[in-house]
Amino acid sequence: MNNQLGPQEVKSLSLYDREAEWKQLEELLANACLVGLNEEGGLETQENAEALVALVEKTFLAVQDKRDSFCSFLAWLEGQQHMGEQEQERLEYRIKRIEAARKRLEKLAIDTIRSLGPDAKGKWKRLEGKTSTLSLAKNPASVEVLDDKLIPDEFKDITIEVKVSATIADKLIATIVNADHALNKPPLISVRMKDVAAALKEMLPCEDCGELGVVSKPPDESEVIHNPSWSVCPKCNGDKQVPRQVPGARLVTDKVRLVRK
Ligand SMILES: [Zn+2]
Repeated sequence: MNNQLGPQEVKSLSLYDREAEWKQLEELLANACLVGLNEEGGLETQENAEALVALVEKTFLAVQDKRDSFCSFLAWLEGQQHMGEQEQERLEYRIKRIEAARKRLEKLAIDTIRSLGPDAKGKWKRLEGKTSTLSLAKNPASVEVLDDKLIPDEFKDITIEVKVSATIADKLIATIVNADHALNKPPLISVRMKDVAAALKEMLPCEDCGELGVVSKPPDESEVIHNPSWSVCPKCNGDKQVPRQVPGARLVTDKVRLVRK
């Protein structure tokens, strides 16, 4: 047992070492009570007994100090963690407010440029300063989901989480097929937005005019019944094609963003 430690070494002992040291001493004491420690390191002399009492006192004080300082350090760490979390909350709140202010100002600039109307070439005006310019740029077409329940199944994936025993791995597929009762979570339905976007950009033949681009208009009363007049197909606007529709979704093509240079 190493009980001849200097002050530096005393401080460097861990809680584990301190408790081990104390346990060892307790065992030594218990043993001393049984055999009287009259052999190795025995208590035969007054000197030995006094030395042991001093050692017990010193070790007990040291282990108590260690427990206290350990608790103090844990409390300090808890405090630091709590302060860090509060600081994090404060920063997150500040970032959200800054972001909201930036978005508000960007919207103001977009509304301002839109209110000025397009120029002679049909383009939005650029607001030029001495060193910087504000302008609008068109966003790429994006899908807006109006009602995901209306979107057809062909555009949806279903994720199912099933819990089965590893011992029946070979029967896994069969189990999944009949696993309604074993579902951990309700099936997760997700829309494949890329596929919806591709579908919305598809052009289909116009059925209203049979790809002619024109439709026959019922003759006016004044016109002869055998001489029907023709007019541009209102469905395809004469293009002979119409964009594919996906229920519950639409393609947004008129969104703009602010460009600051
Ligand atoms: Zn048409």
